Amino acid sequence: MERTEEEARKFNWKNWGVVRKMGYYLRPHAWGYALGVLIISLSGVLTLLVTRLWGQLGGVGASTGEEAGVESPMAMLNIDMHSLTEVGWLILLVLAVQATLSFGRVLLFAKMTEDMMLAMRNDAFEAIVSMPMKFFDTRRVGDLNSRVSADITAIQDVFTTTLAELLRQIIIIVGGILALLYFSVTLTLLMLATLPVMIIAAILFGRFIRKLSKRTQDQVAESNTIVQETLTGIISVKSFANEAWEVVRYLNSIKDIRSLAMRGAIWRGAFASFIILFIFGAITLVIFKGAELMMEGGLASEHFFTFLLMTGLVAGSIGGIAAQFSALQRGLGAIESLMELMEESREEVVTRDDQAYPALQLRGDVSFEDVHFHYANRADVNVLTGVNLRIEPGKRVALVGPSGAGKSTIASLLQRFHDPTAGVIKVDGQPLDQYDLTGFRKRIAFVPQEVILFGGDIRSNIAYGKTDASDAAIRSAAEQANALAFIESFPDGFATVVGERGVQLSGGQRQRIAIARAILRDPDILILDEATSALDASSEKEVQLALDALMKDRSSLIIAHRLSTIKNADQIAVLSQGTILEIGTHDTLIASGGAYKKLVENQEFDLA
Ligand code: ADP
Repeated sequence: MERTEEEARKFNWKNWGVVRKMGYYLRPHAWGYALGVLIISLSGVLTLLVTRLWGQLGGVGASTGEEAGVESPMAMLNIDMHSLTEVGWLILLVLAVQATLSFGRVLLFAKMTEDMMLAMRNDAFEAIVSMPMKFFDTRRVGDLNSRVSADITAIQDVFTTTLAELLRQIIIIVGGILALLYFSVTLTLLMLATLPVMIIAAILFGRFIRKLSKRTQDQVAESNTIVQETLTGIISVKSFANEAWEVVRYLNSIKDIRSLAMRGAIWRGAFASFIILFIFGAITLVIFKGAELMMEGGLASEHFFTFLLMTGLVAGSIGGIAAQFSALQRGLGAIESLMELMEESREEVVTRDDQAYPALQLRGDVSFEDVHFHYANRADVNVLTGVNLRIEPGKRVALVGPSGAGKSTIASLLQRFHDPTAGVIKVDGQPLDQYDLTGFRKRIAFVPQEVILFGGDIRSNIAYGKTDASDAAIRSAAEQANALAFIESFPDGFATVVGERGVQLSGGQRQRIAIARAILRDPDILILDEATSALDASSEKEVQLALDALMKDRSSLIIAHRLSTIKNADQIAVLSQGTILEIGTHDTLIASGGAYKKLVENQEFDLA
């Protein structure tokens, strides 16, 4: 779910320490930012200057030019401030400089921010994929994805526009007020006493009105829910003859909309009156006082015009600064949550260099020794309670048992997605946690129940098992997985794009791609979660043949659902409520007449 503006994380100053970690991304651009600050400051001053010159134009235009005041800086530039043409040219020159500066500033900030975003996106993605599985157990992928991208966008806003705007507005407000004071202290004090107060009141007023209209929207959504529910459950509504009851329920809800909307309208009307009366009133007061001063001769006409224009500029900046502050707050909140994500403890270092791993070769002698386990997020549920299980090198062990017994959990533990809470899992006599995590996982292949292909072509999907594999190796893996025939029947062959934007493969075809991927990987240990969904008889046979090729001479742990797979296993382990009830072959287990025999008699397995 996307976080709305309202729900965006509010920044807590206590967490300033976390935000300072952002310094890591800023430091390479320290000089760039210094230059940016300089450009913005200069540009702010130029804005004030242009306003001053506009006022000059108006003032000169209004007066006849007799009341020549000495304009020291301009006099130095040898510009006649009472010549409209010269002032006009000067304005044009200043504008040209400002235009150039702004162009440079936008590019500079874009370059620095894009570099920073690249680094942050990269690090955030790396942080997320390096998290241990328990991280994903407690979060929904969609949430995580939209949260991180919303956070990064908020941060991007801060560094591309918010900070620059904030600085520019502060310069205009401070510089503008100083200039105003220079023109007329009385007028400035009068202006400051009225206008900013009114503007701030207007901003608060505006927020209040937005809240009200949000409540109206919520109420509209609520009444829509009633319609939706009623129509979805129309059978129940009719069979209980509750139409009238629903109509009343809806009517009450839409009456609430009306009264909320009317309350909003009253406040909106009040707001319009407020603006007209108080803001425009304050402006009138200032103009009135200024005109009075001018008539008394206490204020030159060009100063009066400048005063008015500059007041407008300052007032605009005061009005705009609140929005920048809330964008800054949002940005800081986003930085905080992103930095926290980066700080979360990860699995052992993931490196991009396949060659970095010593060519680990396992015999594939797996043993679970009195393994206990509960998931971190559900500590009260003991999922495994003392599992003992051995897979001898090259043998197949089928795990069977009711759903929820802990079969998938055993498969997860063997891939070290989690560590046992007690007991130990050993491979070739060595506890799992003593292996290099990535090196170890590279010797395992997992064929899941629901094969999800990546959005790319068939070739890259198979090559996922070994990213540097040659075309010949990929082809041979596809052949062993019984997939070559259907792949070659596509016009594009291995370059056929699959997934959302490509061709839809059947369940059996997807499984064979996954098997080819595992064959290509050539693992020492294979974990197979057998598909429960039934395939048609011919693809069933194709998949079975492919699996046989894959499992040949590899230690395999199979979460099995089909009787044929189970019968072919060297050992069958019957799991129930986190412990293994019995282990043996099909024949011995049937003969002993225990849990397994019952499962078979109750036809718990697919006969396919
Ligand atoms: P099976 O594969 O035999 O159906 P699982 O290993 O999936 O059983 O589940 C065993 C128990 O562990 C169930 O009670 C299940 O609810 C719980 N469980 C599985 N995965 C998680 C998880 N990620 N977090 C918390 N509990 C889980």
